[in-house]
Amino acid sequence: MPESAAKRRERAGKILTELKKLYSGADCALHHKSALELLVATILSAQSTDENVNRVTKDLFKKYKKPADYLAVPVEELEEDIRSTGFYRQKTKSVRAMSQALLDDFGGKVPDEMDDLIKLRGVARKTANVVLGTWFKKNEGIAVDTHVGRLAHRWELTPNSKDSKDAVKIEKDLMDTFARDDWTFVSHATILHGRQVCGAKKPDCKSCTLRKLCPSVDQFL
Ligand code: SF4
Repeated sequence: MPESAAKRRERAGKILTELKKLYSGADCALHHKSALELLVATILSAQSTDENVNRVTKDLFKKYKKPADYLAVPVEELEEDIRSTGFYRQKTKSVRAMSQALLDDFGGKVPDEMDDLIKLRGVARKTANVVLGTWFKKNEGIAVDTHVGRLAHRWELTPNSKDSKDAVKIEKDLMDTFARDDWTFVSHATILHGRQVCGAKKPDCKSCTLRKLCPSVDQFL
C-alpha cells in the first residue's frame, strides 16, 4: 500500500531529527564574506565542486570586491580568472550581466527577495535559495542541487515520475514535507549526507544511520 502523506511527513520528521544529530552545524561550503561573494561563488559552482570554486574565489575576491569590478576588466580577463570552474564563458556572461543589473536596479546591492534575485542572469531558484537562506537567513525555499534531488528520491519524499528531474517540483514536494524553519538546514544537511554517506554511485547504506527510515536501502545492500 502506498505510504500516506501523513506517514511520509512523520518519517521525514524522523529523518530530520537524525540529520540534526549528524550535521548540527551544517552550513554552505562555499567561502564568502558578503552576499555578493556568495552570489558569485554560487554561480561559479554550477557543474563544479565547492572545493574548486573555493580555490578560485580565494584570489578572485581579492581582485573583485564590488559589482563594478566585474565590469571594469576585459571579458577575457574575467574568463581567465574563473576558467578552472568550467563553462567559464557562460559564467562570465552571467556574472557580468548580474553585476550590471545590481548596479542598474538595486543600487549595487544584492537584493534579499526571491522575485528580485531570480530576475538576475544566471540566478535560478537554487542559487537564490542559497543566498537567501545562507546570507539573509530567510527560509524562502529549499536549494535543490544534485545531492538534494538524489536523496529526495531515495527517501521517497518526491515521486519518481517523468518530471522527477524537475528541481522546482522536487523543491515544492520538500517544502510541503518539512516545516519552513527547517528549509535551509534541510538543504545544507542533505548535501552533506549526499557527499559523505549517500553518494550517487555507492551509497554506504551499511553505515548509514538513516537506513531504517530509507525506502531505498534494499536496492543497495
Ligand atoms: S540507507 Fe542508503 S540509500 Fe538510504 S540514505 Fe542511507 S546511504 Fe542513502
